[in-house]
Amino acid sequence: MCGIVGYIGKQDAYSIVIKGLKRLEYRGYDSAGIMLHDGKNLKISKTKGKVTDLEEVSSKDNNFFGTIGMGHTRWATHGVPNDVNSHPHLSNSGNLAIIHNGIIENYEPLKKELIKRGYVFHSDTDTEVLVNLIEDVQKNENIKLGKAVQIALNQVVGAYAIAVFDKNKPDEIVVARLGSPLAIGIGDGEFFIASDASPFIEYTTNAIYLEDEEMAIVR
Ligand code: GLU
Repeated sequence: MCGIVGYIGKQDAYSIVIKGLKRLEYRGYDSAGIMLHDGKNLKISKTKGKVTDLEEVSSKDNNFFGTIGMGHTRWATHGVPNDVNSHPHLSNSGNLAIIHNGIIENYEPLKKELIKRGYVFHSDTDTEVLVNLIEDVQKNENIKLGKAVQIALNQVVGAYAIAVFDKNKPDEIVVARLGSPLAIGIGDGEFFIASDASPFIEYTTNAIYLEDEEMAIVR
């Protein structure tokens, strides 16, 4: 188990995501990470250790803010707990960022195929395979992120709750689940994403719980 938190709206995403990750600590984890987009730049901070360690690492960047954010607490299944294997993971182009809870069981053949196509991997995770698979589909089919996620997930065997962000479409986060929980909180001009409602319960009680094999484009 691990935790996922996301935010799109007008508030400072950093504090909402960090607070949310702390509420999900009960689920267990070994590393933590966060991605923010400030309308121009995508920034990532991640580290082995606790959410308080993440706060320390990310506080070194004075410009670490944004109104879109995704945070993750990792329970390592593929690759040791370290900074590089922590989520979020970027695709090779640097355009896509993903956080993932679960396991991609067939990541090895998918990774081999992507390596043949020229993709390079920096981590040992199954998750980095998925984000590059999505990128590959998006490029080959020339389609939007939501459709690319849908097609890529059809090639995947395993369990997941994912949130994917595309720098070229910085007003949306695509989420999907199979076997791992994912909830969307609907606020007033803002949306929350989380493994359970605890990260956003103080902002809204209006929530959608995704069913297995459902996805959503939160915009
Ligand atoms: N399988 C992924 C990894 O090892 C995600 C693990 C998790 O659920 O935190 O990075």
